[in-house]
Amino acid sequence: MDIINEKSEKFMFDYLNSSSPTGFESAGQQTWVEYVQSYVDEWHLDNYGTAYGIINPGKPYKVVIEAHADEIAWFVNYISDKGFISVIRNGGSDHIIAPSKRVNIYTKNGPVQGVFGWPAIHTRKGKKSSLSPSMENIFIDVGAKDKEEVEKMGVHVGCVVTFEDELMKLNEKYYVGRALDNRMGGFCIAQVARLIKENKIDLPFSLYVVNAVQEEIGLRGAQMVADQIKPNVAIITDVCHDTDTPLIDKKIQGDTSAGNGPSLTVGPAVHNKLLNLIFDAAEDKEIPFQRSASSRSTGTDTDAFAYSNGGVPSALISLPLRYMHTTVEMAHTEDIENVVKLIYESLLKIEENHNFKYF
Ligand SMILES: [Zn+2]
Repeated sequence: MDIINEKSEKFMFDYLNSSSPTGFESAGQQTWVEYVQSYVDEWHLDNYGTAYGIINPGKPYKVVIEAHADEIAWFVNYISDKGFISVIRNGGSDHIIAPSKRVNIYTKNGPVQGVFGWPAIHTRKGKKSSLSPSMENIFIDVGAKDKEEVEKMGVHVGCVVTFEDELMKLNEKYYVGRALDNRMGGFCIAQVARLIKENKIDLPFSLYVVNAVQEEIGLRGAQMVADQIKPNVAIITDVCHDTDTPLIDKKIQGDTSAGNGPSLTVGPAVHNKLLNLIFDAAEDKEIPFQRSASSRSTGTDTDAFAYSNGGVPSALISLPLRYMHTTVEMAHTEDIENVVKLIYESLLKIEENHNFKYF
């Protein structure tokens, strides 16, 4: 299966290098729709910016494949008289990694550059030598002499801030950058749509290819669009933690390795018959996979679909990721391709009016 090629990789870089902070996903969504629209019969945008394409519209049975479009970010929360900016989180942004990162602050005049400053090692004497970044002490410097100059640059309370970063390839094996969570999922579902179109697959249902907003602050975009689409089945893709890297306790976090295939989660929110269909697809097509367990909900958009509309059979296919919510999130090329294959092959196993009742 031809998944990552010159054209699809160009889309991956365009999409991953766009900005799509939670609540402000339009730029990323436009890039995504531009690519996906040639592989779907129609596309739609909901009121809060979730984008979805439909293959085979109008069938009574509706299947969703879904990823989330939003990336974690910050909000400007306070500007000091000297022009230093304090922030609050938009999603689960990590204050520990902030110092010395470059940022873009989005204003109505376009992005303003800045940096998270930090006192030099020489100046942190005595007690302060153990100073560590916290939400109380991190700050952005935009090179202005005072608050007035910051405001003249178009920066005000409520402006959204992201780390400045570009996608790169590492050792020909990994893609590295910010917000692979979960725009790599948006890449994967777009490839599934492309393969269905290019392979002229005649699906016996309507397929909704959904790139949802606002996952990072509580699965909100998925909640909205699940109610709108009212699907019969939903296959969600998101990222999970590669637990091979230092300082992670596998007894707590599970045993997942990047490069060993997508991870399939068992848990109450995941529908067992749908999950078994996905296991069968993996085994039939010899797609490698790993297992993980989730005590209650999965913490992903799977829950939003599962617990919508009186219950929608839903399952989760996860891409192992190193260093989640940093600017060096790493995903393995083969895992990305195998996520695409597994979603694709699972869809081919869903029959017309597929019955997911347990007995
Ligand atoms: Zn996340």
